[in-house]
Amino acid sequence: MALWGMVIDLDRCTGCQACVVACKAENNVPPVGAKEAVRGRIISWMQVLTEEDEEHDGEVKRFVPRPCLQCDDPPCTKVCPVYATYRNPEGIVAQIYARCIGCRFCMAACPYNAKYFNWHRYQKEAPGQNPDVSLRPKGVVEKCTFCHHRLQKARERALAERRELAPGEYVTACAEVCPARAIVFGDLSDPGSEVHRLARSPRAFRLLEALGTKPKVIYLSEGEGRG
Ligand code: SF4
Ligand code: SF4
Repeated sequence: MALWGMVIDLDRCTGCQACVVACKAENNVPPVGAKEAVRGRIISWMQVLTEEDEEHDGEVKRFVPRPCLQCDDPPCTKVCPVYATYRNPEGIVAQIYARCIGCRFCMAACPYNAKYFNWHRYQKEAPGQNPDVSLRPKGVVEKCTFCHHRLQKARERALAERRELAPGEYVTACAEVCPARAIVFGDLSDPGSEVHRLARSPRAFRLLEALGTKPKVIYLSEGEGRG
């Protein structure tokens, strides 16, 4: 069985935000106005964080794209009182919006701030929306799903053509659009995949590894890995 994962090369990322925009368009995440932004109500399933260099007057040292890290041992799923979030057999941490009661326990449990409370009522059938992704109701928690709908679509296509899913046929919107090729997506359990190879690079590291959450989004950076 596949184990979907992502490798993000921080030495390649230019902070262009193409992944952020692609994610919003793909997953029907609407922008909010200035007033809502000030109240902390922006939703950004993919966010590019900046790390500042204290030695050089706070200059930007590097950019850190942060989707849901799809932890293999996710703390968010363990606190949900209504089982509205779970890890599926292929390692994707999913949300069931119809079950979510908006208590936000999972947001508090996520050490990576990857979950968002939806304060907004989505515009129904606005032009440009992706029909493959459901609109979330107001009052639920949402997050990056590794564009899971793309996997379902690719599987249906393969089934109709009576063949197996081909390597590289399922890829997230952020990985597809990154002009710097900083994001590589694929099956971590496939020894022939690029993501498998990169995850074993000496430059590889995981965010807050000591917490034991085992993220399946793995970062690369010179000097950060195993030496
Ligand atoms: S699209 Fe690629 S280069 Fe641009 S911010 Fe995202 S990861 Fe970095
Ligand atoms: S990054 Fe946060 S939301 Fe995503 S699986 Fe891990 S704990 Fe859950």
